[in-house]
Amino acid sequence: MKKEISWLPILIQCRDNVKRRITPLLKTAKKQQQPNLGIGAGGDPIKQIDIEAEKAIVETLVRQGISFTLISEESGIKEYGGKPDENYVTVDPIDGTTNLTRGIPFYATSIAVSTKLELNAVHTALVADLSHGTTYTAKKGGGAYRDGKKMVPSKQTSLEEAVIGIDLNTYKAREIASCLTSLIEKTKHIRHLGANALELCYVADGTTDAFIDIRGKLRTTDTAAAWLIIREAGALITTPNGKPLEAKLDPKERLTFVASANLQIHEKILSLMKEG
Ligand SMILES: [Mg+2]
Repeated sequence: MKKEISWLPILIQCRDNVKRRITPLLKTAKKQQQPNLGIGAGGDPIKQIDIEAEKAIVETLVRQGISFTLISEESGIKEYGGKPDENYVTVDPIDGTTNLTRGIPFYATSIAVSTKLELNAVHTALVADLSHGTTYTAKKGGGAYRDGKKMVPSKQTSLEEAVIGIDLNTYKAREIASCLTSLIEKTKHIRHLGANALELCYVADGTTDAFIDIRGKLRTTDTAAAWLIIREAGALITTPNGKPLEAKLDPKERLTFVASANLQIHEKILSLMKEG
């Protein structure tokens, strides 16, 4: 019979181990400008700190005797234990590595657990803001929590007042900016903070009102945990056409989405994006 695993405390241990492993590297991360150690499965350069964070997660799960398939931004897909198809663990060991190496205090570790290689099958999630020590968690059907307190998204519906994150970090900026012009014109406070998993958690807990990424660049490894956190908090995440977000959990899979705190602001954003 399949062993029932209590995942949340294990993900908290993963977080603590990531913190422990990267702390000595943080002191030199900025000074040494961390050399690139090749290209990760997700297509970005890998730094020592990404590798250490991933090791910390794998080590924690292996120590618990858990069989799992790892889907990681850094190493791609790897199997551990005798029954690797019982659990799928999708990780972005460090989301926001550029922020970390430049000394910008906005980066996170992101871990999602699922029964299948599909975004829809994610049942437990953790995103931990490693510089502020804030932890966002969710269990399917069990709500979303920030440091143990139930998260509530904002009720903001006015674009005049809203704070909206838009990731425009792409060589295709000219192409995608055209769909966003009307929205940007009507929104007073546009932000991009540089760690997308964490920016999605900001929508979930009411810190911001929406987050948009239509570059076609963001991986499921960055998004899997925050996807569940957003939904369990009662916020929304859909494709730019308003369809449910569906994706394979694979480091090569890319997503485009709009995440919003409530239906009213979500509909306003989607219709302004149609206007272009
Ligand atoms: Mg990363």
